[in-house]
Amino acid sequence: MTRLKPPSVRIGHRYRAERLKGPYDAIVIGSGMGGLTSAALLSALGWKVAVMEQHYTAGGYTHSYERQGYEWDVGLHYIGEMGAPTIPSRFMDFLSDGQLKWAPMAPEYDRFHIGDKVYEAMAGTQQFRDNLVRHFPAEAQAIDRYMDLLAQAKKAVPFFVTGRLLTPWLRALLQPLLRWKLPKAFSKTTAEVLAELTSNHELMAVLTAQWGDMGLPPKQSSFIIHALIANHYMHGAYYPVGGSWRIAESILPRIRSAGGEVFTYARVQEIIVSEGRARGVLMADGTRIDCDCVISSAGVFNTFERLLPADVARQTGYAQQLKHVRPSVAHIGVYVGLKGSAEELGLPKTNFWIYPSADYEGDTARFLEDRHAPFPVVYISFPSAKDPDFARRHPGRATIEIVAPASYEWFAQWRDSTWGQRGADYEALKAAFGERLMAHLYDKLPQLRGRVDFHEVSTPLSTDWFGAYARGELYGIDHNPQRFQQDWLTPRTRIPGLWLTGQDIMSCGVVGAMMSGVMTASSVAGMRRMWPLLKKIQSARKHQPAAPHAAP
Ligand SMILES: Cc1cc2nc3c(=O)[nH]c(=O)nc-3n(C[C@H](O)[C@H](O)[C@H](O)COP(=O)(O)OP(=O)(O)OC[C@H]3O[C@@H](n4cnc5c(N)ncnc54)[C@H](O)[C@@H]3O)c2cc1C
Repeated sequence: MTRLKPPSVRIGHRYRAERLKGPYDAIVIGSGMGGLTSAALLSALGWKVAVMEQHYTAGGYTHSYERQGYEWDVGLHYIGEMGAPTIPSRFMDFLSDGQLKWAPMAPEYDRFHIGDKVYEAMAGTQQFRDNLVRHFPAEAQAIDRYMDLLAQAKKAVPFFVTGRLLTPWLRALLQPLLRWKLPKAFSKTTAEVLAELTSNHELMAVLTAQWGDMGLPPKQSSFIIHALIANHYMHGAYYPVGGSWRIAESILPRIRSAGGEVFTYARVQEIIVSEGRARGVLMADGTRIDCDCVISSAGVFNTFERLLPADVARQTGYAQQLKHVRPSVAHIGVYVGLKGSAEELGLPKTNFWIYPSADYEGDTARFLEDRHAPFPVVYISFPSAKDPDFARRHPGRATIEIVAPASYEWFAQWRDSTWGQRGADYEALKAAFGERLMAHLYDKLPQLRGRVDFHEVSTPLSTDWFGAYARGELYGIDHNPQRFQQDWLTPRTRIPGLWLTGQDIMSCGVVGAMMSGVMTASSVAGMRRMWPLLKKIQSARKHQPAAPHAAP
């Protein structure tokens, strides 16, 4: 077992203008998985990279925070593909230099409560399929066709990615061929594709019960994101040993080894563009940092609405393009601290998804219309049970995280107030949501009554505060079919010297953001220079043995 530092989940170096050690070869805006991956890969090629993070710690949605002696993750509950030498696991190994270990969750990694019925997602293709057939014996054929479709989708992903990596003129030339290689299902919604397989609504609900992993119910989501997520977890789910903050902590040395740094409290105010190309960034403290390569991992709304001068966003067409995408739904989180270890409290290594009914679209619409309506989905995660190192760091304690969708508008009136000082009405609204979500927890695990020591509630304004998502977006831009047709969502922008990365480029998810980082670093450095490194990463010996249920 790797030796882990005592808990100090704050990662990075606090920014001060005098601490800059430029010139830098690249400046990355945002230290989420997309930004850190781009920075680390470029660093591995010898580039000196400064990563600018506005929050007090690095990691973006993979950061953790501490309160009252507890520690919680804010945007990572499980990851797939880490138990075998897959492409993502090899990149994780490389980025962390083998320092990041992954603990398998239970073979039943997700449990779905749909109305009064209970279903589960099982690790392993055959186990997953057989379990579905056990619940729906009359639908065996439809289930097999569904599994085939997922396999086809997996094969098509490289063509989709290639389309995003090409230079504009190559894309114009090759796009028809690449489109031809993509399954027809890629241009449809998840619900449209499933309706071609079955008319059993209960089965459809079970197949799409992970929709909370990207925030859109099946009639609105693209089948591409559905297939990416379903394939991602097909061989089971994993949790980072030591907590999600370990991701940024273990990537940081790669960036530092080439002379770079990850600066925290480092808000970029503007991307400087002159004579048609990016020239650097202007920091919120007024410091100008010159650099010919600026990579934005802050999301496309931040990049083109807030960071790029408005006239440049207009002239380059990005202001217009943003009208074709929309921010994803926001969320409420409850962070629960309990006295007693995960084992004593009987906490599972399985996530709970609680749905009032199989009518995901209707339930979501009713709730977003009226916040007093039942939550359309409540997600409960048990990090202290998943993390084999948690008890060492926090003996006699346990944590739980609860997530539910929310409308940013419910909280918008407090948008200009300061974190921690938003007033009694805001606190009361938060508390009411918190109590309702805690009731779901007690309903499923009644033994926890009387064991909760602390809980606090986050709102979409918290997401804006720590992640700079102005509308509290949970997953960046929405994953509807239209989003996946936007040819401008590529690492390369129309402004020379400005590049994009992160969840808006490929897809949400820690691995989605990481693979965007790979795409961006490859585009920035050029394939000729990046190829030997990519080959080395993909042929490296796997650091971690595969878990028994995880062989692909
Ligand atoms: C509640 C929740 C649960 C999730 N659960 C999972 C899960 O279980 N598994 C999974 O794979 N994925 C999960 N995700 C999704 C996943 O965390 C994200 O898709 C992914 O981490 C996004 O990475 P990113 O680099 O694109 O963006 P981010 O992590 O959001 O990073 C962007 C960074 O840019 C910074 N920034 C923005 N503007 C500026 C500026 N002007 N100056 C400086 N810095 C700036 C922000 O502060 C932020 O740190 C979850 C997300 C949420 C919110």
